[in-house]
Amino acid sequence: MSLLEVSGVSAGYGPKTVIEDVSFALDPGGIMAFLGHNGAGKTTTLKTLMGLLPARAGRIAFDGKPMDRMGTAERVAAGLRLLPEGRGIFPDLSVAENIEVVAARHARAGAMFTPEAIYRLFPALDERRAARAGSMSGGQQQMLAFGLSILGTPRCLLLDEPSIGLAPNLVERLFDQVNEVCRAHGVTAILVEQNVAAALRIADRVVIMNNGRIVFDGTPDEARAANVWHYF
Ligand code: ATP
Repeated sequence: MSLLEVSGVSAGYGPKTVIEDVSFALDPGGIMAFLGHNGAGKTTTLKTLMGLLPARAGRIAFDGKPMDRMGTAERVAAGLRLLPEGRGIFPDLSVAENIEVVAARHARAGAMFTPEAIYRLFPALDERRAARAGSMSGGQQQMLAFGLSILGTPRCLLLDEPSIGLAPNLVERLFDQVNEVCRAHGVTAILVEQNVAAALRIADRVVIMNNGRIVFDGTPDEARAANVWHYF
């Protein structure tokens, strides 16, 4: 059964419809690279999945259950997590305080990622527990933002351009960590990226959006063979 099933979804702002008739289904585990030009509607799609923006048409089901009537908090509790564009951290709090504040919302017996699990996964954060989050390098801040997004028991991560502003070697490191979290723990991810090469290194699925519509859905090899790059 699909973990996330999106069918015929439209959404927008005010009178403007931005995404139209969006459909895709995600199996548990695996990483979907969600690509497309600036303004194509990728962020709008993620917001609609999180319930931050209402779907005007279509259906979204998570784990076989319709999400239409679920608010954002309920979707988070079900395991959907958004890592927003920009750094989703509290810059004036220390690393440890960031982790405590977010972990408190997800504290449950048997959680997949406790604060200690995050420190084990990211030793650089362990070494910087007392550092002011905003004083760290961009790569470390993004690592913290990713760590915060997986606290508790995530099932489907919506990662909105996590590589922005990072040097290429840091992008590789971050994506290796995304890959490890997904493969080792069976977590699914939708990875919105401008850095196509980096995304395709870890993705097993490529979905391309153009002007608010899905124009390609296939494997990375199929995407390369179909020469889809003219969309960006
Ligand atoms: P980017 O990579 O630039 O973030 P994107 O594919 O994520 O692009 P969206 O951010 O979803 O694209 O934007 C799609 C369209 O919706 C754009 O035309 C944008 O101007 C418009 N839009 C986004 N947010 C709003 C908003 N809050 N109010 C009105 N229009 C918006």
